[in-house]
Amino acid sequence: MAREPDLANFLRSQGIALFAAGTIKEIKNHFPLSREMDLAGIDYAISMAYPLPAQALEGIADRPTLLYKHLYRQANNLLDRVALFLSARLEEQGAKAIPIPASQITDWEKNLAHLSHREVAVKLGLGFYGRNNLLVVPGYGARVRLVTVLTDLELEIPGPASGKQFECGKCRACVSVCPVSAIRTGPEDFDRAACFAKVKEFEKLRGISVGICGICVKACQGPRE
Ligand code: SF4
Ligand code: SF4
Repeated sequence: MAREPDLANFLRSQGIALFAAGTIKEIKNHFPLSREMDLAGIDYAISMAYPLPAQALEGIADRPTLLYKHLYRQANNLLDRVALFLSARLEEQGAKAIPIPASQITDWEKNLAHLSHREVAVKLGLGFYGRNNLLVVPGYGARVRLVTVLTDLELEIPGPASGKQFECGKCRACVSVCPVSAIRTGPEDFDRAACFAKVKEFEKLRGISVGICGICVKACQGPRE
């Protein structure tokens, strides 16, 4: 059985400083993946985040930049690589492990993936749902990419967040910057359809070709009173 210090040291050695681990038993029936494979006994997860350099987002004004697109992809690649290595390591120790891709849509109409990395990250205390419906991590805001490894190994590593679902407080920095007014009072009234349509529009921009925006990501530095 992996010891927690080993896991933390391993992740840090791979460049991952933001992570949390714990049970996902209560939410795993939400995962679209659970309709594709039997997740019996797979009751734990490791959620990992990688922050994009804040300064690199400065060029984003009313659309995603090529620099943002490049960093978005590189962060996803790094996270996928670490998730793969970590899964192999857990298997070597006799555990089951399933690395879930950082950014892989499985249902294009409903915009669903194997699971919501955000839901796992919030459950494990890595961050909270922001007004912009993204994961907000203390100290980093919304400029993080995420990956998840599911496992049957019992792990408990608290994340940096308080465990509350929503902690934007009085901050509304992302609300006025959204070009389609998708951000309102909280994640519950966030206009997913409007955001999705805008992101699809940005995807058609020359050289972008991925569903990204970045405008509210740039605006979010975490809650400020
Ligand atoms: S990603 Fe873009 S379109 Fe979507 S909520 Fe943020 S600013 Fe608005
Ligand atoms: S910018 Fe402020 S209101 Fe918007 S998600 Fe970030 S912390 Fe929340």
